[in-house]
Amino acid sequence: MTDISENLRTIRNKIAKAACESGRRPEDVQLVAVSKMQPLERIEAALQAGQRVFGENRVQEAQAHWAGMKAEYPEIVLHLIGPLQTNKAREAVGLFDVIETVDRPALVPVLAKEMRRQGRFLPCFIQVNTGEEPQKSGVSPQELTSLLDLCCEHGLAVEGLMCLPPVTEPPALHFAFLQKLAREHHLENLSMGMSVDFEKAIPLGATYVRVGTALFGER
Ligand SMILES: *Cc1c(COP(=O)(O)O)cnc(C)c1O
Repeated sequence: MTDISENLRTIRNKIAKAACESGRRPEDVQLVAVSKMQPLERIEAALQAGQRVFGENRVQEAQAHWAGMKAEYPEIVLHLIGPLQTNKAREAVGLFDVIETVDRPALVPVLAKEMRRQGRFLPCFIQVNTGEEPQKSGVSPQELTSLLDLCCEHGLAVEGLMCLPPVTEPPALHFAFLQKLAREHHLENLSMGMSVDFEKAIPLGATYVRVGTALFGER
């Protein structure tokens, strides 16, 4: 049986250690607990252990996990970390608190309109396909500036960048690249690093690490 509260302590300690070693404050790195494909009892265990920030990659599944839970725990902060179809924008804006995966121009006006309609102006991240992998979502680094301009035109509040490095390359190269892009565009936040590499993302400026299996166990 996975001991979620023990895992949570371990991960928080590792975050604090990596932050201190790189001259950063532990509280400047937020843990996003990735609860996709996890049974509800594990999610409840994380809540009981005090975790409040969660990530899900599918709108439908997130509804099932969180629609009721958010009523019970209003302080939950839910991040969308997977691709968003335009026809799910309404549900996504209603449920999530942060959209990390703005990855293409077509999504921008749809999200902006939906946020106005619901009066929920959610902070957004742009997902950058740093490895320029054809199968992966995210804007290419060359298209980042124009996507940011478009977000600005439509009034989307972009607070940072997010990436998922290629599994075959050293992640630190991609984390450093994302950090450079964020600096060039004066963006504060970086969502990068998962179970296997979050400690490498912290010295390179991660303000959010997205950790699933190391916290909840295998999916
Ligand atoms: C599943 C997922 C994670 C978490 O991955 P783990 O290896 O389980 O920590 C992080 N980010 C995204 C975008 C994911 O889809």
